[in-house]
Amino acid sequence: MGIAKNFLKKVKINMSELSTLLLEWFDLNKRGLPFRKNNKPYDVWVSEIMLQQTKVDTVIPYYNAWMKKFPNIESVSEASEESVLKSWEGLGYYSRSRNFHKAAKIIIKNFNSKIPESWDDFRLLPGVGDYTAGAVLSIAFNKSYVAVDGNVKRVMARLTSRKKLSQHNLRFIKSKLLKFMDKNRAGDFNQAMMELGACVCLPRNPKCEQCPINKICNAYISGKPTEYPAKVVKKTIPSHIFVGGLIRVGNKILIQKREEKMLNGLWEIPMKKINDQKNLTKDFKNFIFNKYGITVKINKVFSAIKHSYSHFNMKLIVIDCEKTTSIVKKKNMYSWIEKNQINNYPFHKVNHKVFSLFKKKTWNV
Ligand code: SF4
Repeated sequence: MGIAKNFLKKVKINMSELSTLLLEWFDLNKRGLPFRKNNKPYDVWVSEIMLQQTKVDTVIPYYNAWMKKFPNIESVSEASEESVLKSWEGLGYYSRSRNFHKAAKIIIKNFNSKIPESWDDFRLLPGVGDYTAGAVLSIAFNKSYVAVDGNVKRVMARLTSRKKLSQHNLRFIKSKLLKFMDKNRAGDFNQAMMELGACVCLPRNPKCEQCPINKICNAYISGKPTEYPAKVVKKTIPSHIFVGGLIRVGNKILIQKREEKMLNGLWEIPMKKINDQKNLTKDFKNFIFNKYGITVKINKVFSAIKHSYSHFNMKLIVIDCEKTTSIVKKKNMYSWIEKNQINNYPFHKVNHKVFSLFKKKTWNV
């Protein structure tokens, strides 16, 4: 007879043991990550921003490179936005770095270069939400705030057998965490919860037998841990077609700085969304003429490059072309750069796919 049949009803769990069990496990099992070497507020904050929506393995090289280039809040505030974006290039969700840059300037100006330890001051900084505030203030200053990321939500949904992650249940989860947190080790408690979610209480295959809190976990006792929380049906994301061009003149190519909200401040080759491909080259020539005041000769149309952004799939048809004449000088943020200058600019990811394609096929600028 399995565990499930013995515990068909929800058991009343003794969560007062949570902190002790969790912290004992954490002390013995935590991963030696570069951002756990110290609890300095700046270091913790950088890591917490980078780790949002991003896997630890992806973050580590970015974190190490960032700390070399920007070892403290002053160095970020003094840097150009372009330099900050360049260090973030490829990590995605670029508003995180733009907001961090703005926040660094505010800290220098309004907080005497010290990262504020009060919730109200810290939470008001650009890009700081409840999660980031809770994580940084608890880890760096040992303040008793909870930090509830996706991993913690899953662990707590299972521990307390909550199927829906409704606002009501999230408030319940937060109140339980706060109640049973070891207030002397608030930062460790939060990190231990996250670590458990990342390494043991996995979404599809939780390692319940190795879990330090299995004896107080309702989902484990029910025998069906993966039923908590209930799966949310993901929205299908739309697909859009774009046409873009590597426009050459001599040994230079044309690049444009984005002014749109999405990927703001990053550079790209000229590109635009299209509805159909009926008049592809004609539409492209018109677009280039209207936007940059130049005419182009088309050399080749490549098959589409596919790329997925967080909220749409992109199919980018790339055109290799040459500038023939300049008719009018348009005022917008574009530049002609040489191939070896590409690494000086922050580009969003699909551009690097274009550059790789051209390196393989026809790159001779
Ligand atoms: S016992 Fe299983 S379901 Fe419960 S917290 Fe541990 S790993 Fe997650």
